[in-house]
Amino acid sequence: MSITITNINARDIRFPTSATLDGSDAVNIDPDYSATYVILETDSPQRLRGYGLAFTNGRGNEVCVAAVQALKHHVLGRTLESLTENFGAFWNEIASDSQVRWLGPEKGVIHLATAALVNAVWDLYAKTAGKPLWKLLVDMTAEQIVACIPFRHITDALTPADATEILKRNEATKAAREQQILSSGYPAYTTSAGWLGYSDEKVRALVRAGLAQGWTHFKMKVGRDLDDDVRRARLIREEIGPARKLMMDANQVWDVDQAIDWMKELAAFDPHWIEEPTSPDDVLGHAKIARAIAPIGVATGEHCQNRVVFKQLLQANAISFCQIDSCRLGGVNEVLAVFVHMRVEWDSANTFSISRFSITSRSALHLRTESSSTWIICTNISSFRW
Ligand SMILES: [Mg+2]
Repeated sequence: MSITITNINARDIRFPTSATLDGSDAVNIDPDYSATYVILETDSPQRLRGYGLAFTNGRGNEVCVAAVQALKHHVLGRTLESLTENFGAFWNEIASDSQVRWLGPEKGVIHLATAALVNAVWDLYAKTAGKPLWKLLVDMTAEQIVACIPFRHITDALTPADATEILKRNEATKAAREQQILSSGYPAYTTSAGWLGYSDEKVRALVRAGLAQGWTHFKMKVGRDLDDDVRRARLIREEIGPARKLMMDANQVWDVDQAIDWMKELAAFDPHWIEEPTSPDDVLGHAKIARAIAPIGVATGEHCQNRVVFKQLLQANAISFCQIDSCRLGGVNEVLAVFVHMRVEWDSANTFSISRFSITSRSALHLRTESSSTWIICTNISSFRW
């Protein structure tokens, strides 16, 4: 039975995390973790609703709420089936709104709003199917997944035929990979000890608490003061020992050559990756940093605005860790495009051993709390590891 979306609420939700400096880093010094929270109401007899959100950092969240209002006519009054029967076409429709598009295109506030709306539709889709989103995606055929992917502006790197072939090639091992993830979970890391505004005593106590909880990968923020970074990295490395992984995140604070110089100083602490070393738009800059600091990996994606920039980062061998944010890209559809393209690039380079994938905690949190989970999309493509 078809259901119709009868009302769309967009709420401005904010949490005063700046009071305790949770989430603080070299650039985001006083974040108030916030969300533009979208609720799709329907005429379903079960009163099903679809939920989606876009993360923001506090002030300005009202702009994102207004962007949802500017786009909601693509969803309001439509049947769910009319949106999902050709999901890729619906995605193109909302991302290419003939007037709103001028505000992007496919970047910034308008793309965050697109993500919130699109992911709310996915959430409703999964609920009507009686499955969490990860299972809905895993159970799709190759053709169904490909029909959801926006290919515009990336067909030089990935065609629908390429994507179908990759997905079909991996179908034989899909069930085993699904079972593996269900039984052992997907690897995760913690940043809870490493926020830049924390005292050394608090960092040490939180690292010890993380170790007691079984964490093996710890991330620290860097980039405000080199002496502070050296001292904190030494402290964390002392606590976690040589075998566990230490990752670093500069949140875009450096210029390219500055990033290289800074990381040469921090290399003594064996970082697994440096995340967002410079501007998220600087593809060639990331590639230069990656060449200069190898074997330390370069990670980015949290602020990568769309599949086109990811295409270039992958083509330029600029990253070895791909950090997709499902509410920075335009929702699950665009995430699928990057996932499949990632597989193409790493296959063609014959470097599957470095196939690495990470999803930001915000994406994971969002998709998991909305009865869904992106990480298991990878079971449709490959056994990603890091
Ligand atoms: Mg980060």
